[in-house]
Order: sequence, then structure tokens, then C-alpha cells
Amino acid sequence: MGRVRDDARGYPPAMTDTISVEAFRAEAKAFFDANAEPRGDEQFEWGVGSDRVGVLDEKTREQELADLAAGKEWRRRLFDAGLAWLSGPEEYGGRGLGTDHERALAEIESHYRFPAQTSFGIGLGMIAPTILAHATPEVRDRYLRAVERGDVVACQLFSEPVAGSDLAGIQTRAERDGEEWVINGQKVWTSGAQYSDIGEIITRTSPDKPKHRGMTMFLIDMHAPGVEVRPLRQITGGSSFNEVFLSDVRVPDSHRLGDVDGGWSVALTTLMNERASIGGSSGGFSFGTTRLVELARHLDRLDDPVVRQGVADVVIRSRVAALNNQRAMAKVLAGQLPGPEMSIAKLSLTRNGQRLGEVLTAMLGPRLVADTGEWGMYSSNEIVLSIPGMRVAGGTDEIMKNIVAERVLGLPKEPRIEANGSS
Ligand SMILES: Cc1cc2nc3c(=O)[nH]c(=O)nc-3n(C[C@H](O)[C@H](O)[C@H](O)COP(=O)(O)OP(=O)(O)OC[C@H]3O[C@@H](n4cnc5c(N)ncnc54)[C@H](O)[C@@H]3O)c2cc1C
Repeated sequence: MGRVRDDARGYPPAMTDTISVEAFRAEAKAFFDANAEPRGDEQFEWGVGSDRVGVLDEKTREQELADLAAGKEWRRRLFDAGLAWLSGPEEYGGRGLGTDHERALAEIESHYRFPAQTSFGIGLGMIAPTILAHATPEVRDRYLRAVERGDVVACQLFSEPVAGSDLAGIQTRAERDGEEWVINGQKVWTSGAQYSDIGEIITRTSPDKPKHRGMTMFLIDMHAPGVEVRPLRQITGGSSFNEVFLSDVRVPDSHRLGDVDGGWSVALTTLMNERASIGGSSGGFSFGTTRLVELARHLDRLDDPVVRQGVADVVIRSRVAALNNQRAMAKVLAGQLPGPEMSIAKLSLTRNGQRLGEVLTAMLGPRLVADTGEWGMYSSNEIVLSIPGMRVAGGTDEIMKNIVAERVLGLPKEPRIEANGSS
């Protein structure tokens, strides 16, 4: 039997498995050997393979559904082998393991090829932790295992046409009708809504209260009558996010997350996990530092001092961000809620992306806008065009700076005006 984890920060107790890291490593390796293809000793080689470097998905609907099916099949096998949710509580199918086991698994995974898991990012990184911390036992039982196993895909219904950074300005209404709530309104920029089964939605329940204190969070069925998903087109051509219209959508009270009018604190759980997910990832930047060096070599610019300085800057920033993320993720895996360091992680990721875009633009110039068919040239515009979106998604750079200024540096707070005029 293991040790019960401190649940003072809102997570339910998890058991700590007693399997040693070495024994676990052998178990995980045996699974990957039997189920996945080894990556081998792949080295980046200029001109070989696909030159796509996009951040957002640019797939046709058919490709998207085929990739989703393959991703689900892989996730199911991983979950059933006990390797999908290492830090999760055992009662919901997790293993109750710690950081060392997570690290061992990540290291082993990096040596194998398996179907992309990007469609599950929001559900696993943001919605599942929120369900775990705030849902009723019924909802935890119904959805946690399903989301972690990839059977149910989840999206985040927060932003609205008039409420993004100022999330508390949302206007989508939920009104109580007996044991149900009725939701009406509109959401926007909902990533993955087109293939999601459930959505975490923030609604206004008490318009007369100060705006942060009159909101309630729910988990809705994305296939319910009254939910309409309309795709939005990205600058790079694809359609990975949507508008979602809600007309008289009914949701049982048991699917409420947290207290009535207590939606703001539930939103904070999701948002902090969002920053952790985005900041702790590569942000989809498939333009590795090796590729950047090889681009400079290909263009015969390795001796150009400005290019050398730019490339070195990107490499150093990436390394520092990775180390900072390791520290922040260790805190999360130790069972603590992600804090302001996640805003630092998200900010570093996007600032590094911005710097990468500047270095690429300086090196490629007109090749970024005129397609000559040459490998690795015009295709780089995909990443340059996607970076501004990353600086906005999951909280803009300016909002992240405000959080770091106030909560890390202790600088004075910005004035905040409530709907009823109080601040
Ligand atoms: C790729 C992508 C995916 C997304 N996916 C989702 C999703 O799945 N679900 C979802 O709910 N939303 C999603 N969003 C929306 C995203 O959360 C919002 O776009 C974001 O919070 C900013 O809100 P806004 O677009 O309304 O901009 P605004 O809040 O209107 O901001 C406009 C500008 O004003 C600045 N600004 C605003 N307030 C302040 C302040 N107090 N101090 C200083 N500057 C300020 C901002 O930094 C920004 O530059 C996604 C966005 C993108 C780009």
C-alpha cells in the first residue's frame, strides 16, 4: 500500500504505487517494444522528408478524422496497459506514481513512433484536472477514465466575442430549471470543438452580482440538441478552431463544476493547467534548433555574425525555457497546483517563438512569400504566421506579463473594475 497524497490543494487523494523506477522502466519498455515502432537513430537531414513546420493543424476533415481514430486506438492500448495516466488516482484508472516515473516514461516514449496525441491535449491537460478537482463523484466516474483513455474528447468553451483576456466579461447565460440548467449564448476560438464529445463551459448565472462572482462552470455534451459548431478559417489555411452557438442547451445540475456562482475559481484551475500544458510543451514548434542551424548552413550564412547571433539566441532561450519547465512540471507532478511559474513558461515559449520567427524572416526574406518549390523555404512561412496566434492562445503575452509582475515580482496590481462599478 502506498502513501496518501496531501489533498489540501483540491486534488482528491492519490495512492503512491510502490513499483521502483527500474521495474517500471522495464515494464514500459516491454510495452513499447511490443506495440510501437522504434525511431532508430534519426538525424535531421536537410531536404529529406516533409518540410511542414506548422503549429496549428492544417488538415482536411478526412485526415483529421483518420488521425483521431488512430490516436484513440493508441491511447486506449496505452491506458489499458496502465501507461497513460501515471500521476492519476487509482480509483479512476491512474497509477498514483510520481515525477520520476513520468520522466522515465517520457524518455522511453521519445524512442518510439506512435500516432499523434494532439487531439487529446485540451482534455488531458486542462479539462481532466478540472474535473478531478471540482466535479461531482458522478461526473468524475463517468468522464475521468473516458477522457484519459481517449474515448471521450474534450474542448474548452471559455472565450466569447466580447470576452477573452477579460474572461469575467462573458455573456453566455445559464438559467436554472429544476434539476437542469438551460444555456444560451455564443463561444468563439474553440479549438477542436468539431470532434469533441464534451466541453467545459463558463456561463453567467447571476448578472446582478460583481462579474467575477456571478459565473458558474458546467460540463456539457457537445452532441446535445442546441449545440452548433461552425469552423473558423486560419491565416495558414486550416480550420482547427470554431464558433460554438448554444441555443437552449440543457445540462443536468450534476454536471456543474464547483459551486453556483463559483465558476471563477474553477476557471483558474483550468487556466493554470492550460499555461502548464502550453508552456511545458514545444507549443507545436516543429522547427527544431538543428533545423535552424542546417538552414543557415544551406543558405551559406553560417559565417554571418548577425545570423550566428540570432541562431545562438534561439538555442540558448530554448534550453533555458526547457530547464525552467522541468522545475515547474516537477511541482505539478508532485501534486501541487500550477502557479505563476506556468505564466513564465508560457511567456518564454511564445517569446522564443517570436525570436525564431524574426531569425527565420531575416534569413529567408522573399523566399517566405514566394513559393519557388525549394524544400524548406516557403513552407517556413507556416510557423512565422502561426506564432502570433500562440502569443494570444491560453492568455496573451501582456496578460502573462501582468501575472508575473503581480504574483512573482510583487508589483502593484492593475486597477480592476467590476460590472457593478466596484474595483
Ligand atoms: C490558436 C488559438 C486557440 C484558441 N483556443 C481556444 C479554446 O480552445 N477555447 C477558448 O475558450 N479560447 C481559445 N482561444 C481564445 C484565447 O483564449 C483568446 O483569444 C485570448 O484569451 C485573448 O482574448 P481576445 O482574443 O478576446 O483578445 P483581447 O482580450 O481583446 O485582447 C486584445 C489585446 O489587448 C491586450 N490586453 C487585453 N487586456 C489587457 C490588460 N489587462 N493589460 C494589457 N493588455 C491587455 C491583449 O494582450 C491583446 O494584445 C484561442 C486562441 C487562439 C489564438
